[in-house]
Amino acid sequence: MRRFTEEKLVIATHNAGKLVEIAELLKPFGTTVTSAGELGLQEPVEDQDTFIANARIKAHFAAKASGMPALSDDSGITVDGLNGAPGVYTADWAETPTGRDFPMAMTKVWTLLEEKQSPEPRTAAFNCTLCLAWPDGHDEVFEGRVDGRLVWPMRGENGFGFDPMFLPNGEALTFGEMDPARKKDISHRADAFVKLVAGCFA
Ligand code: IMP
Repeated sequence: MRRFTEEKLVIATHNAGKLVEIAELLKPFGTTVTSAGELGLQEPVEDQDTFIANARIKAHFAAKASGMPALSDDSGITVDGLNGAPGVYTADWAETPTGRDFPMAMTKVWTLLEEKQSPEPRTAAFNCTLCLAWPDGHDEVFEGRVDGRLVWPMRGENGFGFDPMFLPNGEALTFGEMDPARKKDISHRADAFVKLVAGCFA
């Protein structure tokens, strides 16, 4: 396992919600972070069908383009009643000609479950794969996950993406309702991050 010893790290995402959460998770390590967006890097095409493969594409693209180590996140929600969909296509389900529409995507998920008369609780998980890649082509990959169930109607204004319909197991509030500090402790991203820290930052 290669340790991260450089001073600067590129967060290889153009997703504002992920950027905020990853920068917050990295704060205790004193690492100077910049983002793919700030550097004006393009977004590579994510055309693979696994979180790991897409995370690798993003991290290697940003590391090569910037000449610095880069950390990517590929994530999504897997709904048991939909055989794991939307999964790696989570962001795609929100695409519209005028940008991403997550209330529309969440409505689609719930409507499909209703049509199938999927039994309650409608279990789901958030998955996160983090890839730390160096400009020389080396990488380290870490996977995280949080289990829960979907609720309807959606609840809360915090977070991003599918947060308002996801109730983590053992919690009373959805990711959309809870304090971001709590989400930072229990999320799929936090789970993967603990492994990243143990492997590369400890
Ligand atoms: P991608 O990893 O860029 O393909 O996008 C993953 C998509 O999964 C995001 O656009 C969000 O919709 C969703 N997602 C990933 N992590 C979270 C999260 O922490 N909360 C809510 N939605 C998330």
